[in-house]
Amino acid sequence: ANEILFYCRPGFEADLSAEVAEKAAAVSEAGYPVTHLDSGFVRFVRAEPGPANDLHRQLPLPSLVFARQSLLAFAPLEALPRDDRLTPILEQIIDSGWSFEALWQEMPDTNEGKALAGLAKALQKPLESLLRKRGALRRKAGGRRLHLFWSAGDKVQVAMSFPGNRSESLGGIHRLRFPREAPSRSTLKLEEAWHAFVPREEWSERLHEGMQAVDLGAAPGGWTYQLVRQGMFVYAIDNGSMDKVLMASGQVEHLHEDGFVWEPPYRLDWLVCDIVDKPMRVIDMIERWLVRRWCHEAVFNLKLPMKQRWHEVERCLSRLEQALAEAGVRSQLQCKQLYHDREEVTVHIRLLK
Ligand code: SAM
Repeated sequence: ANEILFYCRPGFEADLSAEVAEKAAAVSEAGYPVTHLDSGFVRFVRAEPGPANDLHRQLPLPSLVFARQSLLAFAPLEALPRDDRLTPILEQIIDSGWSFEALWQEMPDTNEGKALAGLAKALQKPLESLLRKRGALRRKAGGRRLHLFWSAGDKVQVAMSFPGNRSESLGGIHRLRFPREAPSRSTLKLEEAWHAFVPREEWSERLHEGMQAVDLGAAPGGWTYQLVRQGMFVYAIDNGSMDKVLMASGQVEHLHEDGFVWEPPYRLDWLVCDIVDKPMRVIDMIERWLVRRWCHEAVFNLKLPMKQRWHEVERCLSRLEQALAEAGVRSQLQCKQLYHDREEVTVHIRLLK
């Protein structure tokens, strides 16, 4: 397996390619991205022959902003015969010598991709049974999962994933049910951010009743709704109006103020911010909050209407990290383009004691 296969939001292939190329170069790995606009995936091929296992490990999925999934992959199989797609696939898998505990079939997050779902479904059982017969699918195989990534009816890439360095969701997409009472669709962005950035076993300690939060740019209240649902008290800062039912919870104080200048009356647990503005302006504001330790944890979005989105994200994050380091503030930072994010990425930052 000489390459890595990444999934991403369609339209963000160039950003993911730039990110991966830069990060691979930083660990002295020569290689090149292969991708097509709006395809929803990027291949990163090593320049040297030989396995990409080391590189795959050196680019852990949580450290990649634009990748939804990261797989160690074999060369793609193209022009599969219509009457026998399985033989070439099976050969490649058996030749590799690897074995797996599960088979996942996936496709790009595009309309063309969705049209391939029927094919994948029809192949699942026959494939599983052939793989089992050949010993490539078994109960114990180090948690490894086999992925078949279909980009056309006659085009598939065989890949694999390892526990601890992969998304556990099909297609790398964490789907969430929209809560009917929520004031806006954006509510899912904050919920997904918590799933992505706060380990489930720490929720009761880090997201709980009685905590104090601020929501900058809160209206109509999708994010505030999530904070309230965790039992928090929320300062909702926005000139726009807030959802009435949400206000009736009694847990929200709505202030018609400027989120970039508002200061909290005391130290808060959480800051969240979904204001649409220049990324660097948001970064400067967040920096001020953290340097003064006005909050413990923060989730905020950086809107990216520009062309070179990876470049902009990189510029923002390094500026924030550098400013915090200079101020002697120890913190843990993560950044991801979530499934519910569009032209934006979500940043999570947590102060360390
Ligand atoms: N997160 C919200 C939700 O889930 O319902 C949606 C937020 S919406 C994308 C952005 C909001 O930021 C708008 O309501 C806008 O009024 C507000 N906003 C823009 N500039 C602001 C500022 N300087 N201070 C406070 N709010 C601002």
